[in-house]
Amino acid sequence: MTLIWLRTSLRVLDNPIWQYSGALDQGAADTTLILTPALEQYRQHGYGERKLDLLRTQQKAFAEWARASGIRVHWLEADTYRAAAEQVLQVAHDKGAAVLLADREYGLNERRRDAWLGKRLNAQGIDFTLVDDRLTYPPETVLNGQGQPYRVFTAFKKAWRQRWSEHPVPPFASPAWAGPLPEPEQEAIAALQRYVASEQQRYEEVRNDLGRPVVSGLSPAIANGLLTTRQAFAETAAQATGSGEQPGADKWLDEWIWREFFYAVGYHFPDVYLHRGLQAWTDLVRWDKDHKKLQAWQQGRTGYPVVDAAMRQLAATGRMPNRARMFTAAFLSKDLLLDWRLGEAWFLDQLLDADFAVNNGNWQWGASTGVDAAPYFRIFNPLRQAQRFDPDGDYVRQWVPELAHLEGAAILDPSPLEREAAGYPPPLVIHKEAAERTKAAFKAAKEQNAHLPEDADYS
Ligand SMILES: Cc1cc2nc3c(=O)[nH]c(=O)nc-3n(C[C@H](O)[C@H](O)[C@H](O)COP(=O)(O)OP(=O)(O)OC[C@H]3O[C@@H](n4cnc5c(N)ncnc54)[C@H](O)[C@@H]3O)c2cc1C
Repeated sequence: MTLIWLRTSLRVLDNPIWQYSGALDQGAADTTLILTPALEQYRQHGYGERKLDLLRTQQKAFAEWARASGIRVHWLEADTYRAAAEQVLQVAHDKGAAVLLADREYGLNERRRDAWLGKRLNAQGIDFTLVDDRLTYPPETVLNGQGQPYRVFTAFKKAWRQRWSEHPVPPFASPAWAGPLPEPEQEAIAALQRYVASEQQRYEEVRNDLGRPVVSGLSPAIANGLLTTRQAFAETAAQATGSGEQPGADKWLDEWIWREFFYAVGYHFPDVYLHRGLQAWTDLVRWDKDHKKLQAWQQGRTGYPVVDAAMRQLAATGRMPNRARMFTAAFLSKDLLLDWRLGEAWFLDQLLDADFAVNNGNWQWGASTGVDAAPYFRIFNPLRQAQRFDPDGDYVRQWVPELAHLEGAAILDPSPLEREAAGYPPPLVIHKEAAERTKAAFKAAKEQNAHLPEDADYS
């Protein structure tokens, strides 16, 4: 009998758990699957209802698939990780299992839970095997020449790509006994294939076009474990035509490596799971505490049309293009000088693709507190972003309807009279002044840090 506990990797295809557990050969009847939907725990982690709805649907569909394929399923609802682990321990004990296999998770609470459970299983003579799946290479194996984790993406990517060219990892075999795929997985696979076939080549050119970004839209499926980097690389290779350059595909696959990078950062620097800046000195920045500014940002009432368009899109749909995520994040931390953690939490609550490690990594990048090699005085100008990526104002027109009557680029920076007539607010801050204030706040933090002992703890 094979006992498997799946947490995130609720996926039939390319799932190494089947191979590692022997379930490929043994068959479904000898496999017992434990699922422990712990939605309350995810809420405590800050995930919002949109993401939880997707998870619920996915978990149910996977359980149905497993039962239809002949697997015995234990569906154990639990409010917390600890409660889930206690129930799993009991099942392993009752079944007299020799081994429990689980998909490895890299978050801090997840690791603590597994350490807790591992000790207790081992004490009962049960082996606990964690199978790497969500990352192509285990995070402790992608290190620099000094055996240290990477803090800069380009160096990580180079090492990762080098490793891939030497040891590519094709998708894992799926069980011959598997019934038709669960619907969410079926849809995710079809969307991956469609995107690679029809849009991927144009990725580099048009991914930043706010009105019509040519992007995959796969992130909710990826964040919830329905697709893997292995599959993205395999699909791209399968559909490649000729041996020529494929800049669109390369750039797109690099984005997948960003995801692997931020997971590795979270693994090696678990302080980020405790809401600390990766560059510790940035926790000394004196952020503004004006709650009204935060609300204006959340509601899309900052008076910067392109920022407001993006924030309203997020609130209405749970989606926002990457470019807009970059400048709205920068706007919160650099223009409003609000603590980046407030924005991080809002995104986590609202995004359909909310994913702690990826969200945190990007927020810290945007706020210049994280892995970015660029210094804090890189500050996005929101109007310039609008002019570059929404030159005709179509994106703003879609999400800020009270300004929709303004033609062409006029919508990007309405006059005081036009704002008043439309009931649209004046700018919350003047960008140039705000940028100066932010630079001064970061500089002061840096100077303060210089006067502290090197191992000072700011927590
Ligand atoms: C402030 C901020 C917060 C973010 N929060 C999240 C989040 O919680 N969850 C999330 O999945 N992405 C997050 N991103 C990254 C990125 O914006 C989304 O992954 C992307 O917009 C999803 O659209 P897509 O699936 O069409 O991506 P595509 O452009 O088609 O890219 C393919 C895949 O690559 C990965 N990817 C793309 N960009 C990034 C990136 N910058 N960092 C890491 N992985 C990336 C995603 O898995 C994505 O689905 C955030 C970005 C910023 C700037």
